[in-house]
Amino acid sequence: MQALVSMIRITDILDKAQEYLSEEHLEMIEKAYIFSATVHQGQSRLSGEPYLIHPLEVTGMLVDMKLDIASIITGMLHDTVEDTLTTIEEIEEAFGKEVAFLVEGLTKISKIKFSSQLEQQAENFRKMMLAMSDDIRILLVRLADRMHNMRTLEYQPENKQKYISRETLEVYAPLASRLGINWMKVELEDLSFKYLFTEDYFDLIDRVAKKKEERDAYAEEVKRIIRENLEAFHLQAEVEGRAKHFYSIFNKMNEQHINFDEVYDLTAFRIILEANEVKGCYEALSVVHALWKPVPGRFKDYIAMPKANNYRSLHTTVIGPYGERVEIQIRTREMHEWAEEGIAAHWRYKEGKVSPDGGEDHIKRLRELFELQQEHKDAREFMHSLKMALFPDEVYIFTPRGDVKAFPKGATPIDFAYSIHTDVGNQCVGAKVNRNIVPLKYKLQNGDTVDIITQPGHHPSKDWLKYAVTSRAISKIKQWIKTEERDKSIAIGRDVLEREFKKVHLKLNQAARTDEFKEILAEQSLATADDLLALIGYGKISAKYIVNRIMPEEEVKEEIPVEKQKKKTKKSADAGISITGVDDVMVRFARCCTPLPGDDVVGYITRGRGVSVHVATCPGVQEMDPERLVDVKWNIGQKQAFPVNIRVICIDKRGLLSELSNVISNLGINISSANIDTIRGENATCDFELDVSDLDQFNTLVSALRKLKSVQTIERLRGSLPGGKRKAYM
Ligand code: MN
Repeated sequence: MQALVSMIRITDILDKAQEYLSEEHLEMIEKAYIFSATVHQGQSRLSGEPYLIHPLEVTGMLVDMKLDIASIITGMLHDTVEDTLTTIEEIEEAFGKEVAFLVEGLTKISKIKFSSQLEQQAENFRKMMLAMSDDIRILLVRLADRMHNMRTLEYQPENKQKYISRETLEVYAPLASRLGINWMKVELEDLSFKYLFTEDYFDLIDRVAKKKEERDAYAEEVKRIIRENLEAFHLQAEVEGRAKHFYSIFNKMNEQHINFDEVYDLTAFRIILEANEVKGCYEALSVVHALWKPVPGRFKDYIAMPKANNYRSLHTTVIGPYGERVEIQIRTREMHEWAEEGIAAHWRYKEGKVSPDGGEDHIKRLRELFELQQEHKDAREFMHSLKMALFPDEVYIFTPRGDVKAFPKGATPIDFAYSIHTDVGNQCVGAKVNRNIVPLKYKLQNGDTVDIITQPGHHPSKDWLKYAVTSRAISKIKQWIKTEERDKSIAIGRDVLEREFKKVHLKLNQAARTDEFKEILAEQSLATADDLLALIGYGKISAKYIVNRIMPEEEVKEEIPVEKQKKKTKKSADAGISITGVDDVMVRFARCCTPLPGDDVVGYITRGRGVSVHVATCPGVQEMDPERLVDVKWNIGQKQAFPVNIRVICIDKRGLLSELSNVISNLGINISSANIDTIRGENATCDFELDVSDLDQFNTLVSALRKLKSVQTIERLRGSLPGGKRKAYM
């Protein structure tokens, strides 16, 4: 049990912590230690050690990184909510809101499991981890947690070793790198390498070890030459020659398809200048370049152009003393600290203030680097902004299969559905988030697992546009609505136009074959009849206009003299009409509404054909020039016959016509024409043109007809009867 020998103790942690934390803080660490020891009591790790070792080791790492007191306490408590009966409320009561918030964050992100088999998913997982770490400290504690788990991975079964190593290599090591914490990245990579490619790992260790003496002697020689030359120019610097870490050698061999013997630069050299001056770095560079010939295209200036994680250094490769390539990094002590510790180096509090190691300068530079214009009250706010700058406003969502998808903040299940497939979006009726049904307007949260419920035949609604935020979803919904609206408009247009054509006894499909119809399509630059129907449906073209083009107005609207050919027009007095202020005007009764004495009527002064009398409610009147309308009154002296059209719908049976005719004749009413039409089924449509004396007689007739058992409905028809049937009239 080797681990027991090197077992960390609380006193080790307190010793290190007292270097930068107050007495009060040390007491808090002790309190957290006792709390953790109490709730984890009886639990043990797979190694057989008491569980408490784990939070202690994690906390020890955080103290080494000189993180603030809240991070330290969080390290001690990080598994209590996840693995014991402890609640967040208890943590908050004992250690305050800040610690409770951090522990809760850790509990949340510990549930993110990198399960996807897809390579390209790793970046989304990293982003998700970062987005879910509302505070960078959550991620720092999580990295320390993972580091200790990797260091003790040997106790896990093999399948778990592989899974955890893969997750570490693809998610955690790159995150450490992104945060600039090089030592973590290197160690996490090498540990993962060991478990993922065990044979290669031990083979490489063997090979590196075999050449160790030779390489050490070589490294000493190169270091000595560099040091002497720097001294000649009065540059004070530490020169390091360190073996590259195994995983980077392994990567190099794979990427360049070379074997171990061909990897000549196993050792990387580093010049760390003591003076915190940028110019010293460039001076050192020129010393090196004067000494050995630089390899073209290998110089990189990360001082002028720092990496996104604020890594700053000069990199160059030169041809060394034996004609071999030598990689050299040049940086100041301050840059070196950042390069190794990254964000952790700057997450240091001392009684609420950033540590005095020039951190303020770094923060200032970082602000500029990430172009953060706004002022930051404290380091935490700054870190938050830093995170926002590194990772835009996105939420990361799991598919049911465990893949991660990124969405803009505020995205809803509708956006998710359309990201899968247009059909999934269109037929989406609901969504389950973490197995619970949510409304479609639910705003997706980081780490949610979303499952879309679809129903074939279901359609998007206009409301969805209020909830969708991705351009894909919005355009797909709009496209659907447009198509649907067009279908509706075509149906409406067809209906309107058919009715309008019916008035002139034309069928739409007949009209559509006419040249005039084709002319209209061409004029409007329309490809199909449907396009025209859609425009009519939208109300952009009137159906009347189309009809008038195909059947010019005079053929449609012209009043046809009422009483057949023999009685064309009458003088007003004879016609039984008096016109206010005018005598003896030619009068005719409008064919379109066939007024009866008793109807409210109105006169229209025609051009050269006297006054035509319409029922006041006749739709035709609405379209007439109001200037030419005159008041007219019935003035019936002697009995006259007025034509009226009536439609009786009856149950079809034998002798129907004679039954109806009897009723009509018994009232002394003349039948000018009759037509019976039996359209499939039981109902017969009977149209009559009758001569009645007035509205009273007409109403009497209607009552009499109603009494017949077979009669269903009776309708006084305005306007002429269907012309096609006119010839069939008696
Ligand atoms: Mn843990």
